[in-house]
Amino acid sequence: IVSIQQVSKQFSTKQKQEIVLDKVSFDVNKGEIIAILGKSGCGKSTLLNLIGGFEQASKGSILLDGKEIRKPSKRCVMLMQNYALLPWRSVEKNVALALEGEKLTKEEIDEKAAHYLTMVGLLDKRKALPSELSGGMQQRVAIARALAIQPELILMDEPFAALDTFTRYYLQDELIQIQQREQTTIVLVTHDIDEAIYLADRIFIMSANPGRVHKEIAIKGSKPRNRADTDFQHYRE
Ligand code: ATP
Ligand code: MG
Repeated sequence: IVSIQQVSKQFSTKQKQEIVLDKVSFDVNKGEIIAILGKSGCGKSTLLNLIGGFEQASKGSILLDGKEIRKPSKRCVMLMQNYALLPWRSVEKNVALALEGEKLTKEEIDEKAAHYLTMVGLLDKRKALPSELSGGMQQRVAIARALAIQPELILMDEPFAALDTFTRYYLQDELIQIQQREQTTIVLVTHDIDEAIYLADRIFIMSANPGRVHKEIAIKGSKPRNRADTDFQHYRE
């Protein structure tokens, strides 16, 4: 679904020029989960920004179904590292706003927002403002908002970083279920190797200065993705 071909990205400031990404190439197949790992500052978020069409590559091209990505597309949703919630809107409005522009009635939008807020365990906070929530809760609102849009491609920048282990495990499992049900393609940046192994079909390890894909690890076969031994399903009770 995505083809990244010899992509380089250079940032120029008055002081200096910095090559952040250097000839990065890989394909992402439909329905695949790709994890990107690498040290802080190696260019992971930059790469996601390019795939999302928020920035342009200095060299090379990124194709979505064979067509060059030049601007953000409705088929792709980016879950930012800093959540990017609208601070003056309630939790419920933050999710609902993302659904506007789709052919849905107000009732359908509210229903959908409520469904995804329930999934992340925040229905009771729907009237709250983002500033009234903890960092992890804000992150969960952002996750609900991204999933509610039901995009073909989700780009996630450390989506579960601020969450406690229970919530993280629970949401990882929810994500896999949604992904399998809707054949969503996911490119996920994470610092958590266990998360990458648990979720991803392939893992790319990036090196820094300049950022390159240093290593590709294929996680072969179907994975035993269950946490049946643990009683995480009921952690909320
Ligand atoms: P982290 O794991 O800490 O989130 P990262 O791998 O996501 O790091 P990036 O945010 O992609 O790293 O940044 C890579 C490099 O690009 C950094 O050196 C950063 O200073 C530089 N950079 C990123 N965005 C810009 C920008 N808009 N202008 C100039 N330099 C930038
Ligand atoms: Mg980053």
